Amino acid sequence: GGFESLNLSPNVYRAIKRKGYKVPTPIQRKTMPLILSGADVVAMARTGSGKTAAFLVPMLEKLQQHVPQGAVRALILSPTRDLALQTFKFTKELGRFTDLRISLLVGGDRMESQFEELAQNPDIIIATPGRLMHHLSEVDDMSLHTVDYVVFDEADCLFGMGFAEQFHKILTQLSDNHQTLLFSATLPSALAEFAKAGLRDPQLVRL
Ligand code: AMP
Repeated sequence: GGFESLNLSPNVYRAIKRKGYKVPTPIQRKTMPLILSGADVVAMARTGSGKTAAFLVPMLEKLQQHVPQGAVRALILSPTRDLALQTFKFTKELGRFTDLRISLLVGGDRMESQFEELAQNPDIIIATPGRLMHHLSEVDDMSLHTVDYVVFDEADCLFGMGFAEQFHKILTQLSDNHQTLLFSATLPSALAEFAKAGLRDPQLVRL
């Protein structure tokens, strides 16, 4: 049950070792193989459990197996600017030996510089919902139809922000075979209903 058993590519494995991780945390041990196998996952996990690497490692592994397509392939939604920034840094660390390009779209930063970033065709976008919606409404040709992975991080907080309708709409715009990953400390009924309606045969992981 160590990281070796996941058969990760050297690019990703080296980055994990560089972080100093020896063994996967319990949530990682349960979710990583499921995500690598292509399943939609609802994981009950709180901050400190290693939840971020639990979705980043399999996602980076799968993204770097394909040549860049000049289009966004993964979208990570974070409820706060701070969490988005932290996740952005973490993604850069775990992706350091890959060619993947990563962009951060959060409120408070200038829209113009974010337009420029988007024009560089990032593979991965990490965003807060308000700013993502703003970009989607401003830029006619900003499309999510190439997105294969979407992560709702701290999903209970995200859904507490009143974006449920927009999240439903986002799911209808992604690639045909996209994978949805929902990480949350709690599973309020609105969230459970969203998962039931929007995810495909989601695997529920709890510790
Ligand atoms: P998170 O729950 O994602 O906020 O992660 C909490 C902390 O655990 C972060 O500092 C991670 O770098 C660290 N971490 C994640 N996975 C592992 C692991 N397998 N071994 C040791 N530390 C880890």
